[in-house]
Amino acid sequence: MPYMSADDFSVHDDDCTDQESDWMPLSDLPDEVESVEDLGCECWEPYDSLADIG
Ligand SMILES: [Zn+2]
Repeated sequence: MPYMSADDFSVHDDDCTDQESDWMPLSDLPDEVESVEDLGCECWEPYDSLADIG
């Protein structure tokens, strides 16, 4: 499940090492995210495409 950081609204995987207690779970990725590269964190590296996330 993706999580959104309350600090900068970046989106991360649920096992991201940067995760903080106030991150909130997202049921879906934001509409503006069109590729894994848009997510901008190394926690997404295991995923080849957005279709693999969820
Ligand atoms: Zn991350």
